[in-house]
Amino acid sequence: MRIDLHVHSTASDGTDPPAQVMRRARAAGLDIVALTDHDTTAGLAAAERALPAGLTLVSGMELSCLTDSHSVHLLGYLFDAADPHLTAECARIRESRRDRAQRMVARLRALGVPVTWEQVRAIAGRGTIGRPHVARAMVAAGVIKRFEQAFTKDWLAPGGRAYVSRYAPTPPRAIALVRAAGGVAVLAHPRAGRGWRFPLSELPALAAVGLAGIEVDHPDHDDAQRAELRRAARETGLIELGSSDDHGSLTGHRIGCETTSHANYRRLVALAVGAKPVRGSRHGPETPP
Ligand code: AMP
Ligand code: MN
Ligand code: MN
Ligand code: MN
Repeated sequence: MRIDLHVHSTASDGTDPPAQVMRRARAAGLDIVALTDHDTTAGLAAAERALPAGLTLVSGMELSCLTDSHSVHLLGYLFDAADPHLTAECARIRESRRDRAQRMVARLRALGVPVTWEQVRAIAGRGTIGRPHVARAMVAAGVIKRFEQAFTKDWLAPGGRAYVSRYAPTPPRAIALVRAAGGVAVLAHPRAGRGWRFPLSELPALAAVGLAGIEVDHPDHDDAQRAELRRAARETGLIELGSSDDHGSLTGHRIGCETTSHANYRRLVALAVGAKPVRGSRHGPETPP
C-alpha cells in the first residue's frame, strides 16, 4: 500500500487541477491519497469525480494557524465539509489571505517591482491565494528567477520588505474546529522552513486538545529532524505520517515521494467520523467497506 496524505491542487497553491492531481497520484503508484489544499475544500468534488479505479481519496485540508505570530500548519482529514463553524473559519482565513496579498502587491510596487493585483489574481484563479502566487508574478516580472527566491527577507519571508501578516486561528482552536466537525487533526511539517522552529514541548498540550498525528517524513525534514520528530511522536502517542506536500511543478512533481504506513493510516481513519474515504471504481466513486 502506498499512501500520501498531503498534496495540493489549483484549489490553493498547487499548479495542477484536482483531476490531474488524482491521475498523477495513480501514475505514481499510490493506492490512497489525501487532497489537502490550504484553507479550502473546493477541490474535493472534482478530485472525487476524477478518481481513477483503484485510487482512494481521503478528504482533507491544510489549515493555516499562528502561534505567537509564527506560522503553523495543521492537516485536517475526514471532517464534515459542510460544518458551519469550520467553513466560516476557512472563509475568514481566505478573506484575510486575499486582503494581505493585495497589500503585499502594493508593497512590492512601492519597491519598484512591476507586479499587479490583476496579474496575481489571474495566477491564483479561484484558488486560495498565497505567497506562491505572488512569487510567480515576481518571476513573470523578472525580479527573481525561481519562485523560492521570493521567500527571503528581501521579499516575502516573515519580516521581509513586502511581507504582510494575516489572520489565522491558533493550533488549539483549529484542532477543536476539526474535531468538532468529526475530523482528525495532524501537525504538518514541524521542521519545514528556515528560522523559527515549532517547540516540540508544546506537543503534549496539543495532544490533550485532540491532536492525533504528526508529519515526520516530509521532503523538508532532514534525517536528524525525522529522528527527533519520531521520538517526540512516540513519547506523546501521536500517529506518525509521511507525505510529499506536492504542489505540482512548484515542488517538482514529487507526489508519493514520502508515504504513510497502512497501519498508521488505519489508526488515523478510525478516529474520524465526519466523512469516509472514497474509492474510485469502474462504476465511479464508492465508499469502501
Ligand atoms: P502563504 O500560504 O501565503 O503563507 O505561503 C506559504 C506557502 O508558500 C506554503 O504553503 C508553501 O507552498 C510555500 N512556501 C513557504 N515557504 C517557502 C519557501 N521557503 N520556498 C518555497 N515555497 C515556500
Ligand atoms: Mn502551499
Ligand atoms: Mn504547509
Ligand atoms: Mn502543504
